[in-house]
Amino acid sequence: MRVAIVSDIHGNRHAFEAVLDAIEASECHEMWCLGDLVGYGAEPDACVELARRYAAICLAGNHDLGVRGALPLEEFSRGAALAARWTQNTITSETRSYLDKLEPEHQGEDVGLFHASPRDPVWEYVLSPLQAELCLDAQTHRVCLIGHSHVALSFSRSDGQSASGQTRAPGEEVDLAGGEWLINPGSVGQPRDGDPRAAWLELDLDSWQAVYRRTDYDIAGAAAAIRAARLPDSLAERLAYGQ
Ligand code: ZN
Repeated sequence: MRVAIVSDIHGNRHAFEAVLDAIEASECHEMWCLGDLVGYGAEPDACVELARRYAAICLAGNHDLGVRGALPLEEFSRGAALAARWTQNTITSETRSYLDKLEPEHQGEDVGLFHASPRDPVWEYVLSPLQAELCLDAQTHRVCLIGHSHVALSFSRSDGQSASGQTRAPGEEVDLAGGEWLINPGSVGQPRDGDPRAAWLELDLDSWQAVYRRTDYDIAGAAAAIRAARLPDSLAERLAYGQ
C-alpha cells in the first residue's frame, strides 16, 4: 500500500487543499496525518473538515490538545498560546468534537505513528542524532513517522552503528528496507526548513521506499487570512520564508 503522510497543517487551508490535490494526482491509496490540524493559521474549521473527510488515520498534536483544553496553554510560546485561544473561540462544536477524539500516537500499523517522538508523542522535537538514538531505542516498530519539528528529515541506524540523520530535499527517495528509521515529512501549513512550499511524503509500505514531496500553494492567500483574523502579523510573515 502507498500512503501519503502529512503533518502540522496548522489551520492553513490553502496549503492543505494544494497538498490534497497533489495526493489525489499521486498513486497513494490513503492519507495519514500526524497531527496539529489547528494553531497558528486562520482556517481551523476548514482544515479539520478536510482531515475528517480524507484522513484514514489522524493524530492529535500539541496544538490540537492545547485548543481542546487537554494541555495548559502556559506551556506554549506566547504567539502559539494566543493563536490557540483565538482558535478555541472560533471553532465550531463539530471541529471541537473531532479534535476531542484524536490521540498523539497510533501503533496499529506496520509503522509507528507519533506526533512528536516515540518517547514523548506530544512535545519532543527530534532534531539531533543523540535524541534520535534515544527514540530509536524506545520505539517498537522498525520505522516510525514523526512530525512536530516542521522540518523534512530522516534519522536512521543500522546494526552496530550510531544514529545519523539529515534534512531531506523535494524528490529525494529514501530506501527504508533495512535498519531503523525516524521519518519526518515536514509541515504542510508552516514549514520551518527554509522552503516555504507545503511538505509531505509518499511512503510505499510494500517496497519500503519513501519520497519527499513539496507542493506550491497560495502563500499570500494564507497570509491574508491570518491578517484578516487579526492574528499576530509574524504568523503571516513567516510563511513566505518557510520559518
Ligand atoms: Zn506543529
